[in-house]
Amino acid sequence: MEKLQFAERIRKFRISRGLSQKELGERLGVSNRAVSKWERGEAYPTVDTLGEIAMALGVLVDDLIPRHEEARKVPGGGMESLKELYRVGSGPSSSHSMGPEKAALLFRGEYPDADLYEVTLYGSLALTGVGHRTDYVIKRALEPIPNEVIFDKTTSSLPHPNTMKLRAIKDGKEIGEWTVFSVGGGAIHIEGRNEYTPERIYKLDKFKDIADYCESKKIRLWEYVEEVEGKEIWAYLRSIWGAMLGSIESGLHVDGELFGGLGVLRKAKYLFNQRHMDESAETKQNRLVCSYAFAVSEQNASGGIIVTAPTCGASGVLPAVLRYITEKKQLDTDTILHALATAGLVGNLIKTNASISGAECGCQAEIGSACAMAAAALAEIYEMEIAQIEYAAEVAIEHHLGLTCDPIKGLVQIPCIERNAVAAMRAINAVNLANFLTDTRKISFDLIVKTMYETGRDLSKIYRETGEGGLAKLYL
Ligand code: SF4
Repeated sequence: MEKLQFAERIRKFRISRGLSQKELGERLGVSNRAVSKWERGEAYPTVDTLGEIAMALGVLVDDLIPRHEEARKVPGGGMESLKELYRVGSGPSSSHSMGPEKAALLFRGEYPDADLYEVTLYGSLALTGVGHRTDYVIKRALEPIPNEVIFDKTTSSLPHPNTMKLRAIKDGKEIGEWTVFSVGGGAIHIEGRNEYTPERIYKLDKFKDIADYCESKKIRLWEYVEEVEGKEIWAYLRSIWGAMLGSIESGLHVDGELFGGLGVLRKAKYLFNQRHMDESAETKQNRLVCSYAFAVSEQNASGGIIVTAPTCGASGVLPAVLRYITEKKQLDTDTILHALATAGLVGNLIKTNASISGAECGCQAEIGSACAMAAAALAEIYEMEIAQIEYAAEVAIEHHLGLTCDPIKGLVQIPCIERNAVAAMRAINAVNLANFLTDTRKISFDLIVKTMYETGRDLSKIYRETGEGGLAKLYL
């Protein structure tokens, strides 16, 4: 379907400009057979050719192949396993460090005989790659074979804002080349290489369809997850919960300055050990939840081990809410695992139908999604109805719409760390509202996800993890 959509578009634009296949081919320096194959959906141009086609037809690359199609990765609907959403790895960025690192490791595995690797970063990867240590993780993955990382900050006709090209060279000749899109949450899509694309094991990919199914079978959302993923998902989620708790615990015991030159001090330990001048149950709740969110986010900013939930930048929200409620209600682990499954379903729906990438849709896609996941998890813990879980997750996204991504110096520190704490508090508030107002709601979860995606596409590029606007531009 992806190819067919591109095929329909290129044919439509070519005809509207009065060009024959031969004339378009001549402009591009390719045969009319090549154009014919693209228009029949039998072949697909390379990233470079895609930019040339857009120029020849006087359109944007986005007009030929919307980013959404790349973000979805696999045509035909459905969703991937929650194991593709929750990943344990090193911060500070799932799209700028975990994704590129994975691409480099896979590439090295495919071309182990190369004597030189050349990796070119484009778009957001090039613009904020230094702050995110993208070059460092790539080099680490490719060593000891000599390698070079190039930051191309000028090429703009890209099919995805996080594009990278990897070349393997032996005896001065190229022996392999990949174009890779780092699509958020540590996931990558390798152009033309579907064998690296995870299977879509969930047949349903809309909240409404899943809710209808669960209600018809009288099961909860986490039971649907178990039905699709099998009982082994609980062992996986148990390890995820352990890693989340580990990142909180580590973050609460460190202080000092974070790397990167911004002079940002760690604050989790300080917050955890303070006492409000008029400490009530509510102010204590605020302080503790924020300290947990700071702890994970500071670990992430320093390259520590965290869980993508759904990304590195937004990794503090869900663990903070879950640890707080675990302590408050003395919950057993199974309850937390059910909450993680419910949150994962919500994150998966956003990832599938919109985006969880700040470079693609701004911070609403990262922090907004994390807030929705945390709200859904908490609502599950309170054993709320599915409609209430939906409303809590919807509210959480709705009030993050338009949130920009403008990290100073490309570091995942300001505004990211504090923002995790604020979003954790918002998740709790969203559940409180859902407790009372679900019957009056007008907006569905599926609609707000679609809106978030449309809003993200309309956001100026400077507010999508390029380090060119907002705080990144004005902070001196
Ligand atoms: S501003 Fe938001 S989306 Fe951007 S890097 Fe920070 S947490 Fe991620």
